[in-house]
Amino acid sequence: MKQDQAGLYIHIPFCLSKCGYCSFYSIKSVNLIPEYIAALKKEIIYYRNVFSSFDTIYIGGGTPSLLTPAQLSDIFTAIDKNYKIDADSEITLEANPGDISLKYLKALRTIGISRLNIGIQSFDDKVLKFLGRRHSGQEGIAAIEAARKAGFYNLGIDLIYGVHGLRMKAWQNTLLKALSFRPEHISCYQLSLYSNTPLYKKYDSNNWRLPDEKTELKLFLTTAETLKNAGYIHYEVSNFARKDNLKSRHNQKYWRHVPYLGLGPAANSFLDNKRWWNKSTVKTYLKYILCGKMPVENTESLSAEQLQLETLFLGLRTKHGIDIKNYQTRFGVDLFSVKGAIIDRLIRNNILELKNGFLCPTEQGLAIADSLALI
Ligand code: SF4
Repeated sequence: MKQDQAGLYIHIPFCLSKCGYCSFYSIKSVNLIPEYIAALKKEIIYYRNVFSSFDTIYIGGGTPSLLTPAQLSDIFTAIDKNYKIDADSEITLEANPGDISLKYLKALRTIGISRLNIGIQSFDDKVLKFLGRRHSGQEGIAAIEAARKAGFYNLGIDLIYGVHGLRMKAWQNTLLKALSFRPEHISCYQLSLYSNTPLYKKYDSNNWRLPDEKTELKLFLTTAETLKNAGYIHYEVSNFARKDNLKSRHNQKYWRHVPYLGLGPAANSFLDNKRWWNKSTVKTYLKYILCGKMPVENTESLSAEQLQLETLFLGLRTKHGIDIKNYQTRFGVDLFSVKGAIIDRLIRNNILELKNGFLCPTEQGLAIADSLALI
């Protein structure tokens, strides 16, 4: 991976319905899509003197697969006019299984989408209904098969575990079903409950609980072992790739403080130790762009201390870990002289390990990655 090439994220904040567990902002007013694309094209131009080239583009959401190939092509034309896009760029689109036909997927290939990430979540209709997804298990399978037929050889799928009533055996069967398609990338997310979601209220009113710590750990380690035995590399808490070059190049930029530009409501950008983020609603975003104003909500300059904390937090969520020499060069701090005692203890407890000058989490460490940030 080229460390210094920036990535571009384009946010598509439209969803036809709201999934029960989702706390992300999105709206159902798909009639606004043409106006939204016109605004995005203006925002694309704003940054042409700040960023010059990208080697990853990630179209995320929301539901990017609600856009027609012509609308996506329109966005790409605007990007190509203003930035240099490397020939071997990773260009990802997030897709909802219910939206994608073979014809649609073939059209995506033609406009240069090289990587497809499908929000499968489960193959079980009962689980999908419970989560409030608007597709069936069969539609998920059909979407994967159509993606292969259309020529997508870099295919990612997302799955959710830790769902009420989904026993370990049923989750293992979901994994085996997913593996039968040999996707290049699998993301397995443990269900989280956010207080502003219908699923949170459902759990609350039924007095249901998320899996306890012990079950959570068992689910995590079983997932990791099943995918590892099938030849996948567990390279981040929730992410697995079949080969090194099939890890998400775009997401790795976020974890390594590589510059990125995010366009659309609530999108974040990072450059020269500065982070800025956009107005969060479509309405305000459109209003600002229409008046010729940057839709930026706020900017923060990260202090050396914040950057060090983020480097620890993000680095210890990845198998790659933290490059100890690089940490010292970047921050003028020897990690061992300030945190030697706790690091030694975590190494003794099989939570961290030292490998070729990198401080890395073990599988047990990845399972508790969030608390590792506190070292
Ligand atoms: S499709 Fe994705 S972004 Fe939209 S509501 Fe469902 S989980 Fe949220």
